Amino acid sequence: TATATTTGATTNAEFFARAQAAIPGGVNSPVRAFRSVGGTPRFLVSAKGAYVTDVEGREYVDLVAGWGPAILGHADPRVIEAVTDAAARGLSFGSSTPAETELAELVEARVAPVEKLRLVSTGTEATMSAIRLARGFTGRDLLVKFAGHYHGHSDGLLAEAGSGLATFALPGSAGVPADIAALTLVLPYNDLDAVRAAFAEHGDRIAAVIFEAAAANMGVVQPSHRFNAELVEIAHAHGALAISDEVLTGFRVSAAGWWGLEQGETAYTPDLLTFGKVIGGGMPVAALGGRADVMDHLAPLGPVYQAGTLSGNPVAVAAGVATLRAADAEVYRTLNTAAARVAGEVSLALDNAGVPHAVQAAGNLFSFVFGDKFVGTGAQDYASVQRQEAYRYAPFFHSMLEQGVSLPPSVFEAWFVTAAHDDAAIDRIVAALPAAARAAASA
Ligand code: PMP
Repeated sequence: TATATTTGATTNAEFFARAQAAIPGGVNSPVRAFRSVGGTPRFLVSAKGAYVTDVEGREYVDLVAGWGPAILGHADPRVIEAVTDAAARGLSFGSSTPAETELAELVEARVAPVEKLRLVSTGTEATMSAIRLARGFTGRDLLVKFAGHYHGHSDGLLAEAGSGLATFALPGSAGVPADIAALTLVLPYNDLDAVRAAFAEHGDRIAAVIFEAAAANMGVVQPSHRFNAELVEIAHAHGALAISDEVLTGFRVSAAGWWGLEQGETAYTPDLLTFGKVIGGGMPVAALGGRADVMDHLAPLGPVYQAGTLSGNPVAVAAGVATLRAADAEVYRTLNTAAARVAGEVSLALDNAGVPHAVQAAGNLFSFVFGDKFVGTGAQDYASVQRQEAYRYAPFFHSMLEQGVSLPPSVFEAWFVTAAHDDAAIDRIVAALPAAARAAASA
């Protein structure tokens, strides 16, 4: 292939060796290195619909979906056309464009608490900026977060973070000043007593509580009944803001994200929300949005500084607009059906192989916890997911990979379907499951 001649490498192993010499760990984001499952990461060259293809020409049914953005399926023609058209008109202007407003309006039409929206490039930037905004608005410094919730890699949020860090079992990160980490209170998830206690003690110094709308970076852990609602109430009772992080759930679990699924008696209204992934349709777009009076504290109107050379980049925004426009009710029905079928089939195969487990689901996001103690109950917090038989996942993962199915390379990650996961794609997954479940059973 052209790739092979220009680099001299042809196999995944050769590309990985070369990458490791040039790039720390051979990767630009840690979980890609397969450290938790072992083995050689696949070097991908293309993706289409429900499939990805590696440098060796092997095709895999993909259950990573770019870690969430590809709800329509990879390389959806509507998105590719929008990006190609935008690129032909210029890659970056550093000036306002009509499409930025359209993207903001699309979000505001879907998610009622978003009265105004500011675009950034990554989820990390979105949460970092939302926290600065909450601090600037309230004049307070403390932040509350939950163990196992991941909000990107800014300093104050790397305290017991989930995702890659959960895998590597690090307490935080080297390089985070103790004084900055000390401004963050880390509480157990789904524990309102812990929230009440923290606010009772520090309430007048807490600027905000930030939470994943439904946790999906320690595997999937749904908020318990009315958890989000009570959390927002407690924060407000103490004059703090509630920041709902929908970087992962936003525009994936419903047209209005997780917020849209909690209506009626579980309804809650966050002051700020953060988005990423789907909002960029696979390009670097993320956002923070919420109450107009809070958002207007951002520069240039207000005293809270925030900026970005590539914020609202026209090519990236074109992908986001095309994705949200295409993500209609039918797309969400397809996502939900595909997710339910894959989760059900995996669970059945694990049962048939005698592997005790529970399905962890939040809308169309799902993952699995292994071990007797989870059967019938699942896991509700970070301490609990950590106590699973995680060693069963690596052999399961590798058996699936060998059979042409690409799963998230860590048991502490959500699985992602796309609207392109049709019966043919899911049948390929199902065919691979018995052998993979047997591998998990004998681990
Ligand atoms: N918040 C949540 C809930 C996320 O899932 C992620 C990424 N997985 C982030 C924030 C950080 O986003 P990014 O990787 O784009 O910085």
